Amino acid sequence: MNIHEYQAREILDSYGVPVPRAGVASTPEEARQLAIDLGGRVVVKAQVHAGGRGKAGGVKLVEFPDEAAEAAAGMLGANLVTHQTKTGGVPVRKVLVAELTDIADELYVAITMDADARAPMVMASSEGGVEIEEVAANTPEKIVRVAADPLIGLSPYHARDIAMKIGIPTDLVRPATALITNLARVFQEKDASLVEINPLVVTTDGRVMALDAKIAFEDDALFRHSDVQALEDPEQNDELEQKAHDAGLAYVKLDGGRVGCMVNGAGLAMATMDITKTAGAAPANFLDVGGGAAEDKIAEAFEIIVSDNDVEAILVNLFGGILRCDVAARGIVAGAQNSGTQLPLVVAMRGTNAEEGLKILAAAGLNVTTVGDLGEAAIALTKVLAGEGRV
Ligand code: GDP
Ligand code: MN
Repeated sequence: MNIHEYQAREILDSYGVPVPRAGVASTPEEARQLAIDLGGRVVVKAQVHAGGRGKAGGVKLVEFPDEAAEAAAGMLGANLVTHQTKTGGVPVRKVLVAELTDIADELYVAITMDADARAPMVMASSEGGVEIEEVAANTPEKIVRVAADPLIGLSPYHARDIAMKIGIPTDLVRPATALITNLARVFQEKDASLVEINPLVVTTDGRVMALDAKIAFEDDALFRHSDVQALEDPEQNDELEQKAHDAGLAYVKLDGGRVGCMVNGAGLAMATMDITKTAGAAPANFLDVGGGAAEDKIAEAFEIIVSDNDVEAILVNLFGGILRCDVAARGIVAGAQNSGTQLPLVVAMRGTNAEEGLKILAAAGLNVTTVGDLGEAAIALTKVLAGEGRV
């Protein structure tokens, strides 16, 4: 689960991590008032669950309260599109108004779980404020990596070592060490999956400060953190992904494709995406109905897939184990009827009650091509995408 910068900033503040003075506004008038309270020179930042706002017009540095109101007016109510969002962007309902910081140096520090090290990994760099992916690709030696002990956390001497390696001035090593240690505490105590500060700044008046804050939380640990759960903003999530999540279905939207995929199980999902590519197309999404989905869940899954506007054809690839193919077929028929879709459907169904399932589909009068295996599925899919209808 992701949260907004203004929420992450409050968590950091409560852990003693220095952040600029700031408030959050939902209207241009509130932004103006905050700017007045903060002394006029402020930065107005769109609050969305995505980075890359700076380059996308979502971060505005201003000198006067009127300009703060103007910047807020330009952001609030609109969708912000950054390189991290999907094509349509995400809605901006709030802006953070923070006092303007005079920056001497922009650095980077993040903590994430490292599967190889089986420990929280601190990654830090003297190159902050830019895409860390670019630093990793072009100058990987500029990224310092230090694993924290999973039981006792990040030792202060490790934090100090990191601070020195990323070029924190000697007289600021002590507060920087405290800052990094406290970030590691946030990561551990809040069951975060990511804590990322980009940029971490050294100010012209000799302070270290977290100027941006991104925190993501481990979904499986959310039950332990009701305070974190309360920070959720479902509006920032993809609408269909949210709907699927609420229904207990795993749906993933993919950019650029035109085939909707319904599968059960992650392995079949991978194989199904490969077959889609073999057919010369790309998946627009995939929806994993899981092991023992009931008919109404399958129907809902089908409706979610067809309500994705990018979908031109649907590939169903199911293996009946615990899931019975006749139940799945009834669900698909119900979903097709409820949604009234005319989209072509290619179905591969094997395992428990597969024959009965295929009969149900054939009898329902859908635009369906049933196939025996994935090779046939690719051929059928190629044909329906070329507008050749049933094979
Ligand atoms: P992001 O683009 O979504 O990661 O948003 P950030 O909060 O990281 O802001 C992007 C960039 O705007 C930073 O890297 C800074 O260069 C600049 N910026 C943000 N806040 C301030 C500020 O208070 N003072 C100055 N001088 N620049 C800022
Ligand atoms: Mn940033």
